[in-house]
Amino acid sequence: MTDCLFCRIAKGEIPSKIIQQDDRFIAFRDINPQAPVHVLAIPREHIATLNDARSADTIGGLILFARDVAKSEGLAERGYRVVVNTNKDGGQTVFHLHAHVLGGRHLEWPPG
Ligand code: AMP
Ligand code: ZN
Repeated sequence: MTDCLFCRIAKGEIPSKIIQQDDRFIAFRDINPQAPVHVLAIPREHIATLNDARSADTIGGLILFARDVAKSEGLAERGYRVVVNTNKDGGQTVFHLHAHVLGGRHLEWPPG
């Protein structure tokens, strides 16, 4: 998807603050952080939303990758949140599957 923002970030065509990557996933800092740590974890593969995901390996891998990001950001013990906003009511604005990793402060529940 040449016109997808996160595909372009994954290819390095748009600059981002990448903190971790491997052959399947990339993590970079959110441009508009909602917590002291706010990282986006994405698959390199273009998948528009969670509804479109077919591979348990990809989804499982993404969550484990997000967990490793939280660990390397020092959040594991205090706690953190991994969020996948999906479609309009879920608040999704970028249609390339991503997991938000949020932490570094107490996060309220329920979300707004
Ligand atoms: P969502 O609303 O769940 O689709 O999340 C999209 C996220 O992407 C938002 O938190 C945005 O702040 C973030 N975002 C948008 N453009 C960029 C960018 N160029 N670099 C990093 N994060 C971005
Ligand atoms: Zn994409």
